[in-house]
Amino acid sequence: MTHPDKYFGKERVRVMAKEFRALRVPVENLQKKVYSRERVSLDLPLGIGDQGVFEARGKGDVHLEFVLESNPDGIRVTGKIGGWVAMECTRCLEAYQQELDLEVDEFYRRPGLEVVEDIEGRFSLDYEVPEKDAYVIEDEMVDLYVLVNDAIILSLPIKRLCSLECRGLCPVCGENLNRGECGCDREVIDPRWEALKALLKPRGDDDA
Ligand SMILES: [Zn+2]
Ligand SMILES: [Zn+2]
Repeated sequence: MTHPDKYFGKERVRVMAKEFRALRVPVENLQKKVYSRERVSLDLPLGIGDQGVFEARGKGDVHLEFVLESNPDGIRVTGKIGGWVAMECTRCLEAYQQELDLEVDEFYRRPGLEVVEDIEGRFSLDYEVPEKDAYVIEDEMVDLYVLVNDAIILSLPIKRLCSLECRGLCPVCGENLNRGECGCDREVIDPRWEALKALLKPRGDDDA
């Protein structure tokens, strides 16, 4: 047997599998009867990190409401992702919540067989390697993690800010400036300006 390993996202999915077991839905029975349906309804505490969506510790409250429908070529997944996802502001590093209201309509392909010819002209059956961005049924499972991850990540604003007016952290003392002014002299912190200042200063003026 070859190789679900070839498929896109397998590594990532394997790493995340412990936390996201609930997102791996068995579809063996569903596939036995074409055009049968199954409802999948889940509540997950989700957060956003550098590596994508992860299970947040008690923060985030995302509701998934999907319908899986079997089809001769795979499983169609339609539905909604709603609720709040835990985020971190890139300017002040504080946690905040981003509202989600997303429609999902994606297709998980059945991994097919294709005929492969080797260099000696012999034919054999091998697993077809799907396009890199395809969702594929693996081991009679639909892993909704990849879909949920893609849908949420694509929906988020590029700038992840707790508010458009976020003042960020003081570069001198690290204080969150949204909570108040720390009193630091931040004018002198940029070394490029320091160098320029030194050039503009007359000699012997160091103590001034
Ligand atoms: Zn902020
Ligand atoms: Zn400060």
